[in-house]
Amino acid sequence: MPRPIQATIDINALRHNLAQIKTAAPDALVWAVVKANAYGHGLERAMDGLRAADGIALLDLSEAERVRQWGWRGPILLLEGAFETRDLEMCSRLNLWHVVHCEAQIDMLAVHKTHQGHRVFLKMNSGMNRLGFAPQAFRAAWTRLNALPQVDEISLMTHFSDADGVKGIEAALTVFALHTQDLSGERSLCNSAAALRHAQALNVRADWIRPGIALYGSSPDFPLHTSNDWHLKPVMSLNAAIVGVQHLQAGETVGYGSSFVADRPMRIGVVACGYADGYPRSAPTGTPVCVNGIRTRTVGRVSMDMITVDLSDLPHAGLGSEVTLWGVPQQAAGSAILGAGVSIDEVALSAGTVGYELMCALSSRVPVHTSP
Ligand SMILES: *Cc1c(COP(=O)(O)O)cnc(C)c1O
Repeated sequence: MPRPIQATIDINALRHNLAQIKTAAPDALVWAVVKANAYGHGLERAMDGLRAADGIALLDLSEAERVRQWGWRGPILLLEGAFETRDLEMCSRLNLWHVVHCEAQIDMLAVHKTHQGHRVFLKMNSGMNRLGFAPQAFRAAWTRLNALPQVDEISLMTHFSDADGVKGIEAALTVFALHTQDLSGERSLCNSAAALRHAQALNVRADWIRPGIALYGSSPDFPLHTSNDWHLKPVMSLNAAIVGVQHLQAGETVGYGSSFVADRPMRIGVVACGYADGYPRSAPTGTPVCVNGIRTRTVGRVSMDMITVDLSDLPHAGLGSEVTLWGVPQQAAGSAILGAGVSIDEVALSAGTVGYELMCALSSRVPVHTSP
């Protein structure tokens, strides 16, 4: 028997979340963001749930190739554009739209030989200070691109640094609007947080939204809002089984470093999931977990192949019981009930990280099942 751990990817939940996001931004076209192997969910698998998207956004040419091979004929956007001139040949061949965020990328376009004009998304740095032209340099970049025979159509984009937080998008939006006001072209502004929180309130054009995390059922602004609040369903569930049980006396300890000390007699379940499976080692005692669908907590340190959970109040749980690390129990997957199980956001918060990181870190040694 294989080790009792598996991830389940719920394609219906993905469809549901996409529809939910469309409801939040009813006038916008949707780039479904599938970078990083669809946030760890598996690219081809995710594509099955994203047929209703208007475009697919990603970073890697190899991923773009896989999306075309899968059969996607619609728009594909390279979110970081070309890394070298040669990449543009692939853009021409696969008909990829690409971001232009710096002068060097315009230089590459200027020497690129193509019969087919490219559609580019010119990116402004509106305060994130990662990729993009400074607002003051934006118009000059647009003018330069517009003069190139290699460029067919220019769209305008930016990426918000604080769509999920208290600072919000007001300042960035003002800068973007000011420096683009008389430039033609479609606009793309919002990630998941901006689309869910601000899309209806935007008073500038926002033709394309770029949701990623919300598609996968994690709340972009947890704990302010839960995935339930946004009516999103978990797409990834991670389930394992109890492979050992220990009875502790008061004063006995659990795991490496003896970091957890029992203050009373306890029953402990040993679960076939550790940090080598993608469970965060930083998750402390008290991180929520479900056993047979009932919530309890982890105790002691996460080790490479195992974690330990408190069964003291779960007399019916024991060897073989199902443990839900995040998402919903196996039996419930496919008919994911809003709010059941343990949200990946809760586990992430407890471990001092975000749902994004946990999804992306699911280990390749974990078998993945697709549901339905
Ligand atoms: C990853 C990414 C997104 C998606 O962000 P989420 O927070 O996952 O919705 C949108 N736009 C760009 C440029 C990105 O890199």
